[in-house]
Amino acid sequence: MRKQIAAANWKMNLSWQKGEALLDAILAKEYQLTANRTAVFAVPFPYLHLAQQKLQGKQNVFVAAQNCSNKKSGAYTGEVSAEMLQSLSIPYCIIGHSERREYFNETNQQLAEKTDLLLEYNIIPIFCCGEPLQIREANTQNAYVAKQLEESLYHLTTEQVQKVVIAYEPIWAIGTGKTASKEQAEEMHAFIRRQLAQKYGQEVADSISILYGGSVKANNAKEIFAEPDVDGGLVGGASLIADEFSVVIDSLK
Ligand code: PEP
Repeated sequence: MRKQIAAANWKMNLSWQKGEALLDAILAKEYQLTANRTAVFAVPFPYLHLAQQKLQGKQNVFVAAQNCSNKKSGAYTGEVSAEMLQSLSIPYCIIGHSERREYFNETNQQLAEKTDLLLEYNIIPIFCCGEPLQIREANTQNAYVAKQLEESLYHLTTEQVQKVVIAYEPIWAIGTGKTASKEQAEEMHAFIRRQLAQKYGQEVADSISILYGGSVKANNAKEIFAEPDVDGGLVGGASLIADEFSVVIDSLK
């Protein structure tokens, strides 16, 4: 079975104290997590070490960074490298979130570079893709997402691409309270998997986890995650509330 993942994306929210209290509250709950049913917490850089300490000894719960540099090292003030994340034993890193693409002008090419660096340092990229509203309204979302995949991931070898987690996040559903219907989510996830199968073969495509992101909450996670090509979610707003995110984790297949 493909890995099912409930990934929290805290974005630029919470003080250290509030973050610590949130982690404590979520970790105090009982979950049936396994190697194939995991939770991931993408916390701000200054809290990575705190989160690592809190999760020590917990099975199948991991820390993620929310971004990394596309440069290896050197005079890039304010940047955080994949190598630095590896030195903290961070196993996952989100890249290409639509907020990074929109506000920080990240390009598909830069994301290809970030993917390479993360894989070089044995960190699993959670690669975000997804279309803005006008593309969805023009019904050209498949071509839009296919181009994102092609330009950022298709240079990878078969062995490398199997290490990547993909998060499909329609931009019109992020932080808007407007979720894609389970049918819309499944349609795009199945399309992404077909694209991967064309490029890398069906077996490889079937092994890659594709998360859905966009206003996932306690009251809709179960029905979205139940779709055959949806392997969990990347969750923003609802991941900041212990009771909400706990239900999201419990909604994994
Ligand atoms: C996200 O930040 O990736 C996200 C999907 O946010 P939200 O759940 O708040 O829509």
